Amino acid sequence: MRAFLLIGPPGAGKGTQARRLVEKYNWGYLATGDLLREEIRKGTPLGTSIQALVENGKLVPDELIIQLVESHLKNGRDYLLDGFPRTVAQAEALDTLLQQKNAYLGGALFLQVPEDVLLQRLSTRAQIEGRADDTAETIQTRLREYHQKTAPLLSYYKAKNKLYEIAGLGSIEEVGERIEKVVETLLRDA
Ligand code: ADP
Repeated sequence: MRAFLLIGPPGAGKGTQARRLVEKYNWGYLATGDLLREEIRKGTPLGTSIQALVENGKLVPDELIIQLVESHLKNGRDYLLDGFPRTVAQAEALDTLLQQKNAYLGGALFLQVPEDVLLQRLSTRAQIEGRADDTAETIQTRLREYHQKTAPLLSYYKAKNKLYEIAGLGSIEEVGERIEKVVETLLRDA
């Protein structure tokens, strides 16, 4: 089992690109944001306990996320992880988890998008999808959380020689092709 990570600020286009990749490479797909929204929708104890955090754009505690990921990862296939890890503690937990499963990290794909474009995309999405965490105030919180807690992952994966930065500006197709180029080299070298 190999894990490929798709990391980037809110609005970078992770979900859109993830769907393309998973289909093309037949990977398992695990998006922590989707899993959390599902728990909230179903009103499970986990969902109820994290609803306010998610809707206010704050990160959910590491322990809860790590448990959630552990319970969903099945052995024996490659995975694309979308929106996880989002903190250095989560990245360390993932390293341990992969080791336990005799699996390894294929690469951390970082989607880079300038802040003004992110803001524009998120406010458009707010109008279309009506996600509870796409309000102007919450968007600011999510970006702040990203810069404080998730951006340090860049140096974490760079130090491990696992960092692949991809420019996220352009059409869905253009960005998709850039990502696929990187993935192809990773698969070839594996
Ligand atoms: P986006 O990247 O567009 O902000 P996601 O769907 O990935 O959206 O995440 C939505 C929310 O779910 C986050 O703002 C956060 O509250 C919570 N969340 C998702 N993944 C994690 C994670 N790995 N650690 C902590 N919180 C998370």
